[in-house]
Amino acid sequence: MPVTMKRLLDPDSLRALSRGCAILGAGGGGDAYVTLLQALQATEDFGPVPLVDLDELPDDALIMPCGGIGATTVILEKSENGDERARLREHLQFLTGRRVAALMSAEIGGGNGLLPITWAARIGLPVVDADGMGRAFPEVPQVAMHLAGIPVSPAVMTDERGNLVVFRTISGHWMERLERAAAVEFGGAAASTEFSLTAAQARGATVRNSVSLAIRIGEAIAGAGGEPPDATSPPPGCVFHPRCPLAVDRCATEAPKLRTVRPARLVACHRAEEVLAGAMTGAGQSLGRSRPDGAGGLAAKGAPAAWPAPADSGDGPRAS
Ligand code: SF4
Repeated sequence: MPVTMKRLLDPDSLRALSRGCAILGAGGGGDAYVTLLQALQATEDFGPVPLVDLDELPDDALIMPCGGIGATTVILEKSENGDERARLREHLQFLTGRRVAALMSAEIGGGNGLLPITWAARIGLPVVDADGMGRAFPEVPQVAMHLAGIPVSPAVMTDERGNLVVFRTISGHWMERLERAAAVEFGGAAASTEFSLTAAQARGATVRNSVSLAIRIGEAIAGAGGEPPDATSPPPGCVFHPRCPLAVDRCATEAPKLRTVRPARLVACHRAEEVLAGAMTGAGQSLGRSRPDGAGGLAAKGAPAAWPAPADSGDGPRAS
């Protein structure tokens, strides 16, 4: 089956992806700026990386989830030497007897959302639009693949010197224990792959479209007007109101409480129900504070022409 791609991850996409990964990581997953620089250099040297959908890959295509493991501060100072991803792929192919068809971020949050793109550029493979969590995670078994019953083994870990360890453990918990111990001996950080799986398995065992989501988040941040709030002196009300295109008068004085708007869906926004219902229709119909009748919002701040009602995909306003 010919593989079509969703988009080429060009420099603009990578910059947006870096911003989105930083948001989704919420402090986890490593630094998204250094890994952006790595990805920009790799794609300049070897060309942009195709982003593909899992549906576009043959059922039996082998996907290699991968990323950095260890202490994020160490990863900043202990650079790769550039050979790590090729060693991971070669040994995974040796262990499985199959060729790796695409890479996948083990976690989209933080620098690990970008690291596989650098690796994919260097070895000429696509990256799939999916990851293992939709966020960043602190332990190996805290991923969708584990919940779906995908075996964590065989796992491969390597470092910048060329050391390599193959792990076969009885559980994800033991993989976490042993890999963490090895990462310490590697100097605090290493590169690894766990939970290798086929495209058919990945369709039901990963968080899909998370790379696209991170890019959209990054593009939204870049396109937002105003200035981010000063974290040391946040504004009253909703801290986002100075630059939120949907802000109404209430937002400037009353901080929204975290509340349940759908089963298992918490949101802190005065207008969450309107957004979720698809009621926001942009400049002409949003509840503009600037309207003569005083009804409403800040349409002039650049609300899009239409706010689609989000599907239950988890990427609505300020969901947690
Ligand atoms: S509309 Fe929601 S996110 Fe925007 S300022 Fe008001 S409470 Fe905050």
